[in-house]
Amino acid sequence: MELVLEFDDAGSPRPVPVGGGAHAHVDAAPVDDLGAGDDEAPSAEPVAVEAPSRRSRRERGAHRSADGPVEVDVVVIGAGQAGLSSAHHLRTSGYTAVGERGWERAERTFVVLDDSPAPGGAWQHRWPGLTMADAHGVHELPGMPFRVVDPAEPAARAVPHYFAQYEDAFDLHVQRPVKVARVSDVDGWLVVESHSVERPDEGVVWRARGLVNASGTWSKPFWPVYPGQAAFRGRQLHTHDYRTPQELADGHVIVVGGGTSAVQLLLALAEVTTTTWVTRRPPQWRDEEFRPEVGRAAVALVEERTRAGLPPQSIVSVTGLPLTPAYRAGIEAGVLAARPMFSRLTATGAEWDEVPVANGWAEGPASVEAATVLWCTGFRAALDHLAPLRLRGTGGGIVMDGTSVVADPRIQLVGYGPSASTIGANRAGREAARNLQALTTP
Ligand SMILES: Cc1cc2nc3c(=O)[nH]c(=O)nc-3n(C[C@H](O)[C@H](O)[C@H](O)COP(=O)(O)OP(=O)(O)OC[C@H]3O[C@@H](n4cnc5c(N)ncnc54)[C@H](O)[C@@H]3O)c2cc1C
Repeated sequence: MELVLEFDDAGSPRPVPVGGGAHAHVDAAPVDDLGAGDDEAPSAEPVAVEAPSRRSRRERGAHRSADGPVEVDVVVIGAGQAGLSSAHHLRTSGYTAVGERGWERAERTFVVLDDSPAPGGAWQHRWPGLTMADAHGVHELPGMPFRVVDPAEPAARAVPHYFAQYEDAFDLHVQRPVKVARVSDVDGWLVVESHSVERPDEGVVWRARGLVNASGTWSKPFWPVYPGQAAFRGRQLHTHDYRTPQELADGHVIVVGGGTSAVQLLLALAEVTTTTWVTRRPPQWRDEEFRPEVGRAAVALVEERTRAGLPPQSIVSVTGLPLTPAYRAGIEAGVLAARPMFSRLTATGAEWDEVPVANGWAEGPASVEAATVLWCTGFRAALDHLAPLRLRGTGGGIVMDGTSVVADPRIQLVGYGPSASTIGANRAGREAARNLQALTTP
């Protein structure tokens, strides 16, 4: 039997048989067995809803009047895993999405603003060679299973396909592309400055009681500074801008960074050219099964930092790199053999002052010529739009208690620090929705 999701008056989804008048379609499967990951387009295109002009919710009812902010209970910034999970939990707690029929008269409302061109969060921007098999476990969103049909499918296609179905099935009315420029506190309201979907030069201001910030990290690639960087005449690019190994096949590539991206791109590049791998610490290989308690311990360590208001650390930097068969083969082939960071870049490559070096590192010559330096040096939380709120403390990070900003619990950060994984983002979405429900219920 084919089922689709329908929503009751409280905004809660329930599966009903096709023909029951529902408006959100999912594949021909019961709600707990919904597939994703095939090549077809989503069964119904997600609707890009235009922001409802600069009027308050009340004014948009019978008494439209002068321009002003649109009043809403919660603004969610970002529609990746963290934003969608939050929106889902708001939805199932009785909040109505802006754009849904009758939202102007709803008791409690939320809006999701996302500046990406299409559903998928950062996944739509990942390089094409990153397959679902390469991804380290993409957890499903709450309420809809994610079935990986073909592990060889690019993650940049499979995950956005699933997210599109999800937004549609749960009627989340994500508004995109809409960039939030800044959030400030005016007279006790959170004022969120964005723009119209269809007329990007027309500003739209939202006035909210609560904010879920789920803006991820993809727009903040981190470039460390090393001597000689400006002198290097070759190509320099970040993981953020990498597409295919063929684009870098014209010469030797120096890959910088000790995380998963560096390892995966080294293996891809080894098919077409030669490489040198440099890291700050010898690679931390983990030759044991990834048990849940290992994950929990890693999350706890990252959480300790955010509680103390320190900048968050990536979870992989705590867990180490899993020794998969592919990585093991790369080590045996000599591709995954790291050298310490070079002392400087030169016009044509890199130089090391000290060779040979201590245990744990691969040996190599005192200088290497290269056509490309590929910086796989990670990302930072994309929080520039929150700067007017002055949330950062002296530790360089934001003091957090779970998903709540301690200095201002109206602001929930999800996909930040310990929740910067697909599974963590899911949980954080639920916690943030609960916290805001408690705060925004009169
Ligand atoms: C290369 C790479 C591979 C990864 N692989 C895995 C993996 O296999 N498994 C795993 O669990 N995790 C993985 N991660 C971590 C992953 O990023 C998170 O798990 C998760 O996908 C992040 O979700 P998110 O919702 O926090 O952010 P995102 O998916 O980045 O979504 C944030 C959204 O917010 C939007 N946005 C940003 N700023 C604004 C603004 N000012 N206004 C409006 N919208 C805005 C963005 O356009 C984007 O759509 C990987 C990360 C990287 C970099």
